Amino acid sequence: MKILLTEQQIAEKVRHLGAQLSDDYGGKNPVLIGCLKGCVVFLADLMRVITVPHAIDFVRTSTYGKGQVSSGAVRADLFDVDIRGRHAVVVEDIVDTGLTLGYLTEALTKQEPLSLKVCALLVKPGAYRAPVTIDYKGFDIPDDFVVGYGLDWGERYRHLPYVAVVDEQDD
Ligand code: 5GP
Repeated sequence: MKILLTEQQIAEKVRHLGAQLSDDYGGKNPVLIGCLKGCVVFLADLMRVITVPHAIDFVRTSTYGKGQVSSGAVRADLFDVDIRGRHAVVVEDIVDTGLTLGYLTEALTKQEPLSLKVCALLVKPGAYRAPVTIDYKGFDIPDDFVVGYGLDWGERYRHLPYVAVVDEQDD
C-alpha cells in the first residue's frame, strides 16, 4: 500500500473546498447530496468546514463489484431526495469514467433544482473525456485504484485517514 495523499493534504484541501462553497452559497441554503457509501468521510469533514447553513441528503450509486473491475452498469437509488427549487451540490468521493456522475446528474436535473453543481475530492484522467463538469475539485490523481478516506476495496480500507494505492500484496 502506497500513500498517495496524506491526512494533512486532504484536510487542507477539504478546508479550501469548504471555504469556496461557503463563499458561493451564503444565503442559498444548499443541499449537499452525498453519494453513498464512499462519500461518508469526505462529506462529514466537508460539512464541518462549511460556515453557511446547508442541508445534507444521500443517494446510493454503484458500478463496481467486489474487486477493482467495473461492471459498466450504473445504478442510482435516489431514496427520497427532492431538490426541486433548491440549490444542490453533489458530493462525490471519486470520479473515474464519469459514468456514475453523468447518470446521477441527469436523474437529479429532472427534479428541476435551482442549480446543480458537483464537488468531487478525487478525479481520475478518464473523467475529462466524459461530458460531466466538476465545479469543485479536490485532487487530480493517476489512473490507479485507490482506497481510504471512505473508499473501499471489497468493503475494506474505508477507515484509513489517508488515500493510498493498493498493490498486489494488499490482497
Ligand atoms: P465512474 O462511474 O466515474 O467510472 O466511477 C465512479 C465510482 O467508481 C466511484 O463512485 C467509486 O465508487 C468507484 N471507483 C472508481 N475509481 C475507484 C478507485 O480508484 N477506488 C475505489 N475504491 N473506487 C473507485
